[in-house]
Amino acid sequence: MLAIGNKLTSVPKAATRLVLDFLLPLRCTSCDAKVGTAEGLCASCWQKTSFTEKPWCQRLGTPFAYDVGEEAWSPQAIASPPVFDRLRFVAFYDGPARDLILALKFSGRRELAMPMGRWMSRTGSEFLGKQSLIIPVPLHRGRLLSRRFNQSADLARVVARECGGRFQPDLLRRHKRTRQQVGLSAGDRQKNVRSAFEVSKNQSGNLFGRHVVLIDDVITTGSTISACSKTLLAAGAASVDVLTFAYADPKNQLQHGDGIF
Ligand SMILES: [Zn+2]
Repeated sequence: MLAIGNKLTSVPKAATRLVLDFLLPLRCTSCDAKVGTAEGLCASCWQKTSFTEKPWCQRLGTPFAYDVGEEAWSPQAIASPPVFDRLRFVAFYDGPARDLILALKFSGRRELAMPMGRWMSRTGSEFLGKQSLIIPVPLHRGRLLSRRFNQSADLARVVARECGGRFQPDLLRRHKRTRQQVGLSAGDRQKNVRSAFEVSKNQSGNLFGRHVVLIDDVITTGSTISACSKTLLAAGAASVDVLTFAYADPKNQLQHGDGIF
């Protein structure tokens, strides 16, 4: 009887799914081809995406053309070492990776956080674990109200679930409403976000001595991530690593001219 009951309940579910698939066919966010699953991209666009792979710079995660050893730093990291320990990113901000971010952020395609967060978990596996505090780069309350969601928090939630770490969306706050970063020089970006962040007073005890993984959708000059890292380290975090979906080379970004920050 029970088996029959289960069968009966599964029929309407399958039928609903068929109707929904018919009404709202899933599309590749890059080339608009129909796709069978909610993975965001069709197989061919996933293949076209330039995922970062080892060997890479131990500090900045930028790929090397040839293997120079696990501990090697890129010239950029040597010239200007970051405040945080390590950065890892899934792909360069271009092509299908860029389309995914724009769809997540500006078209409200929040379901894309799932495949994107899973990719991020794979890329950041060397520093993600149960001991990590997973903290998204926060939006100012005013901007959160107008955009309705923080895409970095959506990604961080998936990353935390994948690695078993602790998702802490309220630990870091953006208390100063900053100008949009787009169009600002690197120096102006730094000034813009300086002292923009603070650790919630009732949560500072959770931070002391902990390893933090900061999550953002895209990194450009790193001024936002650096300001967050400084705030977290000053408030007692033992170390900060950074995981983003994409890295936008500022020179390329100027060419694209997109308002990604
Ligand atoms: Zn496609």
